Amino acid sequence: MDSRKTESLCPVCFERVAAEVFNEGGKMYISQECPEHGSFKTLHFFEDPRLYAALSENMITDDDVFPDGQVLKVTMDCNMDCPFCAVPKSFRNGGELTVDEILDLSKDFKGSLVYLCGGEPTIREDLPEIITRLRGQGKRVAIFTNGIRFSEPGYAGELKEAGLNLVILSFLSFDRGQSLSLYGCDVLDSKLKALENLAASGMPTMLSLIVFKGVNEDQVSKAIEYGSKNSGWLRLVNFKVLWDLEGKQKEIILQNGIVDLVSESTDITLEDILGCTLFSNRTFEILRLITGKGGIRTPRCELRCYFWVRGGRLVPISRMIDLNELIKNLDFLRSKLKSSHSMILTFFLWFPYSLIVRSFISNPDFRMFCLLLLPNLINDLRHNYPLSTSTTKNIFGITVERYMDPSNVDFEFSSTCNICREVKKGKAGYCIEDMKRWHYISPR
Ligand SMILES: [Zn+2]
Repeated sequence: MDSRKTESLCPVCFERVAAEVFNEGGKMYISQECPEHGSFKTLHFFEDPRLYAALSENMITDDDVFPDGQVLKVTMDCNMDCPFCAVPKSFRNGGELTVDEILDLSKDFKGSLVYLCGGEPTIREDLPEIITRLRGQGKRVAIFTNGIRFSEPGYAGELKEAGLNLVILSFLSFDRGQSLSLYGCDVLDSKLKALENLAASGMPTMLSLIVFKGVNEDQVSKAIEYGSKNSGWLRLVNFKVLWDLEGKQKEIILQNGIVDLVSESTDITLEDILGCTLFSNRTFEILRLITGKGGIRTPRCELRCYFWVRGGRLVPISRMIDLNELIKNLDFLRSKLKSSHSMILTFFLWFPYSLIVRSFISNPDFRMFCLLLLPNLINDLRHNYPLSTSTTKNIFGITVERYMDPSNVDFEFSSTCNICREVKKGKAGYCIEDMKRWHYISPR
């Protein structure tokens, strides 16, 4: 690949402009051409050509699909004041949506998952009511939280009772000194208590961990180890690249840096991660075709790896079955499904039985995986549940995520975003609008 045409934002006026992505000296760059402000060039948000190639060329998405998740900001207020927060302080007292307004925003959204965020959603006393009524609309509900309220006895159970499906907990470090310096206050005990309470109530949870260069890199292995011991309720650890709103790219650990840290503590390679990423992309695309449910769950900007936790040992899916061959089989199955009028029949006709049977015979891990987890897995697949809210225990996922910076937006990638922030548009890539707004409002 020499170069690829796409669209980006002019870093000065933030208008959508023509752009080009190209490889120069082994790194991927994006250049923008604004009729008014001239040309710009910066590193692509996937600067590693291997990541860029895998995610731009090998991911598939049907044209007519929509994001599976909707983000609703239920309050802009917060009970913490984290130095790295991307929400400008001037937004803090921006008022709250009423419960009816929230339900009104979600009712026409076609995706299956609503993310409640803020600010800090748990400072709303009516949060259980919001959750219950969203579940009444047939949505699954997740919240982004700093976890402080979950340290209170009974709170996790109360939200679970209300119908909450997933807690996404900001958790940066198990080390008191690191935690203090990153959050700007001593919250470690509250966070640990929150984890204890989430575990006791069996609440499906995902840890969200931004990796800060020179501060908490050692927490990548700590979080993975914690996840492998708690996979009954801890479904995912999401490692995040710090969102670079101020052009400090050199001080930031990028996706490759995080993948290296993951590799050091799990022995999985970039190839395992890319294989798992493409596998989950194909699986969800096929499930969507068959069930007619759910939207985009695998954006082109996210790496993921799934493991079966077998007796405390992490077995990546890529080590249980030949993923390259499986992906080829799934591509063929998908092409058959797309031209079929009887999905179920086509599915059973072209399902890759021989690969499954061969792996079942030759791979002891895969054999036990099928025997122990198949009933739950079939239930999840039938309902097209994502891993975060699946009913199958002891599957653990690692994701590596990076938001595009204002300077390196690539609309080819953002068009497959799995979350949207405004229901009327209902289209992927809307987060760009947020970025634009923050760019103008936050001091730079
Ligand atoms: Zn411009």
